[in-house]
Amino acid sequence: MNANPYLSQADEESERFEIVPCLSCGATAIREFIFAEDDLTGKPGRFRFVTCNSCGLAYQSPRLTVEHIKEFYDDEYIAHRRKKTGGWLAPLLSWVLDGVERRKERLARRYAEIGSTTEVLDVGCGAGGFLRRLREGPGAKTTGLDFKDLSDHPSLSGSQFHCGLFYEHDFEGKRFDLITMWHFLEHDYDPARSMATACERLTDDGQLIIEVPRLDSRTASWFGDRWPGLQAPQHTILFDREHFEQMAESAGLEVVEYLPYGAFPAYYYLFSGVAFKLLRGRGLNVRRALMPYLLGQVLLFPVMLFERKLNLAMQTIICRKAS
Ligand SMILES: [Zn+2]
Repeated sequence: MNANPYLSQADEESERFEIVPCLSCGATAIREFIFAEDDLTGKPGRFRFVTCNSCGLAYQSPRLTVEHIKEFYDDEYIAHRRKKTGGWLAPLLSWVLDGVERRKERLARRYAEIGSTTEVLDVGCGAGGFLRRLREGPGAKTTGLDFKDLSDHPSLSGSQFHCGLFYEHDFEGKRFDLITMWHFLEHDYDPARSMATACERLTDDGQLIIEVPRLDSRTASWFGDRWPGLQAPQHTILFDREHFEQMAESAGLEVVEYLPYGAFPAYYYLFSGVAFKLLRGRGLNVRRALMPYLLGQVLLFPVMLFERKLNLAMQTIICRKAS
């Protein structure tokens, strides 16, 4: 539908998209890297990722403006789900999703001492499952931020919730002992600025945990333009290890530890990579995929025991303020 009768289709397209200088070094000279479709939902469109000629970072350009990306985060978006999938599949689906929150909690507690006085901020908190675990378990003081208003979600009750862009919030000057960004940064429109903001918001001995998909991973080379880590158009930036660590250091952070895995199961990328190859942009029906997903998980269980050594899909850095 053409919303404005005075605009041609092409003009309207160019209004929705913006050309982006490099998200790391600001240079504008680029070369084409890869084209991707919205394999997850099957919405139409072909989105371009480029590589910066100057620093080698891969990112999306042109990209939808902040205003227009919102339609790609509807109530069906997995991290923002309000509606429960009906029927007997519902408990299975919430068990799968809850498994990710359990893994986040385990990983966070490995690196941060979390107790009843710990201030935790989860950036891109979605429906708030991770914060609920830290509130109900160790009794942490929890704050969440998301650009979508999910404050009425039951998992967020008891947490402070901020809506909007991370770097536009000062949290009344509050500092946090633990800041987490679980699959937030690759969606961000200014990831360098978000890293710098996180550095400012940390207490002197606070920890920052960032997990993103890894471009120089096995699934990325296996699945190419159907790699789930491209997740077009939502993913604005594709981090390999080198650029991930480099950007953190440029933001005033020290990388204390690098992990070639994350809380998010690499198996999800194996499954959806195969599914996206077969579906060729037609979109994945979460309800229908659930049983094959669980079956595959059982079959691949012995392989996934070695997930941490296989560099399959994810990466995580644990950072603190550089001294
Ligand atoms: Zn660059």
